[in-house]
Amino acid sequence: MSVREHLLALYRLQKIDTAAQELERGGAVIPERIGEVERSVDALRVDLGHLNAEADAQRAQQRELELQISEETNKHRQWKRRLNDIKSPREYQAMSRELESGERTVRAFEESVLQIMQDLETKQAVIDEKAKVLREKELESNEKVRDLRERAAQIATDVADARAGRHAVIATLPENLVTRYEQVRKQRRGIAVAVVEGGKCGGCNVTLRPQAVVELLRNTDIQTCPLCHRILVPDELLKDGASSSDSASAAT
Ligand SMILES: [Zn+2]
Repeated sequence: MSVREHLLALYRLQKIDTAAQELERGGAVIPERIGEVERSVDALRVDLGHLNAEADAQRAQQRELELQISEETNKHRQWKRRLNDIKSPREYQAMSRELESGERTVRAFEESVLQIMQDLETKQAVIDEKAKVLREKELESNEKVRDLRERAAQIATDVADARAGRHAVIATLPENLVTRYEQVRKQRRGIAVAVVEGGKCGGCNVTLRPQAVVELLRNTDIQTCPLCHRILVPDELLKDGASSSDSASAAT
């Protein structure tokens, strides 16, 4: 194969790799998107979890107060019975003062229980509303994640399709040239082949020496850009050789 044919093959290889790379870039953001969707639902779930925990703590507090109320009330009942047997007025007064203070405590506990019940009622309404929103969001996000996964799978198929002709092109090139192509591609963000147009490198836009352009047009050797080191393909070569080779690559 001539240098001219090698250059055309490298140009075709670059087109295949660029197409696959662009598809991959589109697919690369998908895992992050999936993460965003899942995180937004997680935030709602955590929020609801906090509210439920608060409500549970308040219910426990309510039970504790109710227990104390019943214990206190029982105690007071016993005190009242004993009050009738007390003969000393001083002892009677002391006991009834204690009873009164105990009853005040019970009333305070009862007010606390009432307050908790009101809070719980308000909180439960918020919890119910948030749980409803969460269920809706879960359905919505499941659908979104499913769509994104389908898109990722489709892109993987498209990438494979885009790369289908790669091996056939590589088979026509000498191994050292393929190695060079791969090295430059790695160093130059996926672009190893630059088309020279109007004496300028299409990769980095540097103006090439006139002598270099003349040599390039002779197609006697593989030339690289002195600045970006990309493999140079003269646009003239694509003008006369492209129509046949392009249709050939499109057909494969
Ligand atoms: Zn360059």
